Amino acid sequence: MLDEVFAACRDDTSGAPADYIPELAAVAPDSFGLCLATADGLVYEVGDTEIGFTIQSISKPFTYALALADRGLDGVAEHIDVEPSGEPFNEISLQPQTQRPSNPMINSGAITAASLIAGRDTSEKFERVRRCYSRFAGRELRMDESVYDSEARTGYRNRAIGYMLRSVDIIDVDPDDAVDRYFRQCSIEVTCHDLAMMAATLADNGVNPRTRERALSTSLTERVLSVMTTCGMYNAAGDWVTTVGLPAKSGVGGGIIAVLPGQLGIAVYSPRLDPQGNSVRGVSACRELSRRLELHFCHVT
Ligand code: GLU
Repeated sequence: MLDEVFAACRDDTSGAPADYIPELAAVAPDSFGLCLATADGLVYEVGDTEIGFTIQSISKPFTYALALADRGLDGVAEHIDVEPSGEPFNEISLQPQTQRPSNPMINSGAITAASLIAGRDTSEKFERVRRCYSRFAGRELRMDESVYDSEARTGYRNRAIGYMLRSVDIIDVDPDDAVDRYFRQCSIEVTCHDLAMMAATLADNGVNPRTRERALSTSLTERVLSVMTTCGMYNAAGDWVTTVGLPAKSGVGGGIIAVLPGQLGIAVYSPRLDPQGNSVRGVSACRELSRRLELHFCHVT
């Protein structure tokens, strides 16, 4: 079935890779990988599932997860809400009453989550993020230095967001430190296979199905998946929920993860993006898999 879904989506070469930094524009645009990992450790994959690319915004649920583990649900909720914003992911805005970012899947919420990571110093904090992602993936993940350099060199808007958050005390540490950690987390290199394992770990209540290592508690996994459901797909979250019906997160690197809690994780890599910033073939492959395997959480038999 995976082969059939792959073949059905392969010929769609619409969209274009992100080009806000040269490293993203330079990827092979027609790469395409599809991987499904079950919560009991089986992996099915087709296409370019071992090509490395940067995780970008798919990092957001995982840093949020670590912030929740470090600070607890209430400690994080003082800084970040869980409401879909309907605004672009990099909007410079805060909720009027509480000043909090609307949710951790937009940049303001993600940079705030990065500010909440525990550790003695900057390098220990990022190392804890990297190790957390690695536990989800079941192997040691590393940062792509040249993507990080470019993100850090050009990320003025994210710096503006960091300073705004610091000005209203939502971030109560050095904003440059939080934004730098966000650039680094976005630059972690993964493969489609890694992302499927990370998604399967969320599906398996926070336990990696292959290594059996716990990456996150069951109750916090539920929180992360809830926020992915309402806020994970940029401004196409509503369209995604109606046509795919799974908690998910996408990134401008061309990856998408989707999770059927208790059952399986799906990852797709295809760097051509639609106008919302979601992988074109990623969205269509997930729609097709959801339809064929009846994965939609509102599916009625
Ligand atoms: N590094 C990107 C940014 O924040 C990530 C964008 C994304 O994947 O949405 O600007």
